[in-house]
Order: sequence, then C-alpha cells, then structure tokens
Amino acid sequence: MYSTDDVGRMMRSLNLKHASEGLNSLLSRANDQELSPLQWAGTLLEHELSSREAHRRETNRKKAGIQVEKRLDEFDYQCQTTITKRQVTQLLDFQFVENRQNLIFIGPPGVGKTHLATGLALKALERGYRVWFSSALALTEDLEMAEIKGRLKARIAQLCRYDLIVVDELGYLPMSRQSNHNLFQLIHAMYEFRSIILTTNKDFTRWGDFFIDENVAVPIVDRLIHHAQIFMLGGESYRLRQKLGGGSGVGVGQN
Ligand code: ADP
Ligand code: MG
Repeated sequence: MYSTDDVGRMMRSLNLKHASEGLNSLLSRANDQELSPLQWAGTLLEHELSSREAHRRETNRKKAGIQVEKRLDEFDYQCQTTITKRQVTQLLDFQFVENRQNLIFIGPPGVGKTHLATGLALKALERGYRVWFSSALALTEDLEMAEIKGRLKARIAQLCRYDLIVVDELGYLPMSRQSNHNLFQLIHAMYEFRSIILTTNKDFTRWGDFFIDENVAVPIVDRLIHHAQIFMLGGESYRLRQKLGGGSGVGVGQN
C-alpha cells in the first residue's frame, strides 16, 4: 500500500512538481466527486500541464522587460483616428508572428506608438509567445556590450529565441557605425525567422538620419519592411492634449 507521502515523493522524482503540491486537494476532489481512476488520472495530469503552462507564461512575462503596462483596452480610438480598432483587433490572431512578419508604427511623438506596441506585446505574452521589449537605445547598448565582450553572435542567438521583439523609439538618436552594424546583424538574423514590432518617429525616407552608414541603412530597411505591415500614425500628441485639456498648470514647453 502506498501512502500520500510515497506518491508525493514519486511525483517529485518524476518532476511532477505541481501535481505533487496539489496532491492532497486532488485526492479530496477524487473522493468528493467520486471520480473513476481514469478521470482522476486525467485530472491530475491536466493540473500538472496547466500549472506548467501558467508558470511558463509568468516567466515569459517577467523576462519580457515591459516597464510600463499599457493595455489595448485602455487605448482610445476617438483620440487616435489614424488607426482603427478593427486594424488593431485583426493583429490579435498573431498571424504576423506565425508568419514571421513585422509591424512598424511610424509617427510623431505622443500619438500612441509605444502604447500600441506594449499592448500587443502583453497580448502576445498572454497567448503564450515569448516576447522581449526594449527601447532602441537599450538594445543598441545591449548589443554594443555584447560586441565588446566578443559575444555578439551569442547574444543575437539568445534574442532570436524570442518569438517577438519590440524595438521602441528607433530614430531619436543617431547611431554609431558599430551600432548600425550590430543592429544589422540582429535584423538579418531575425529576418523571415522571428517578428519585430518597431516604433519610430521617422519615416523610411529619413532613416538615413540615424543610420550613419548608408550601406547598412538600406539593407536594414529592406529586411524590416519586406514582410511588414506599416501603420502611419498621425494627429496630435496625446500627452500634449492631456496637458492642455487637463489643466495641470504645467507649461506645454516643459514637455
Ligand atoms: P508615442 O510612443 O507615439 O510617443 P505613447 O504611446 O508613449 O506615444 O503615448 C504617450 C502617452 O499617451 C502614453 O501615456 C499613452 O498611454 C497615452 N496615449 C497615447 N495615445 C493614446 C490613446 N489613443 N488612448 C489612450 N492613451 C493614449
Ligand atoms: Mg513612444
């Protein structure tokens, strides 16, 4: 005869951590609901599988590096009329990730690019995708550090394990030649293999402003836009509008 402790111990040796932790309540459920041995085995394994999945999503969520939670259901389409709710909702089947396509949000500051990119990233995480969110600046520094340590290839391989990478705010600062090169290596490695959501304040005709090296700018743009859906956002800055309408007393010039 086996005791609960014996069974728990065997489960732990089989790495059925969640099932072993929930063993007592699973056993009382079996009693209360008079489950057949088969139904009980199914319930137990389902508990292990669903707990593992929940744990995996939680880990993905922590690794994603999303600092400010901006949800899609907080996005107000009456303030931002250059993209429709239908356009955004269509993205939520995540076919763009399955098909290794990119999304590019282009527009001036404050029109909701980062909000949409973050909202999509959170939804992708909920759906079980591995996502990494980074500002373009932090990504540049990250790759530069890896390059200095002679680990650029390894770092790129690591980043390619994510299904989706969000690169936020490309274009505010010009990049060094080496950073151009590093970024090209990453985009080349992800091309037709992983998806990128990019937000930028400059349209492609002005990308030369921040890619110092034209020889790199063209192939980067080429790879990014080859399989991409591009959203040109316009309108007034939401921040500015809130400041003006909100009467916080802070001058607009300070934004
Ligand atoms: P961008 O990245 O285009 O500069 P953000 O996405 O950072 O702009 O938006 C600036 C601020 O305004 C954020 O706090 C964001 O949540 C908010 N915001 C922008 N557009 C909207 C919108 N249409 N509905 C709700 N909040 C918005
Ligand atoms: Mg932004």
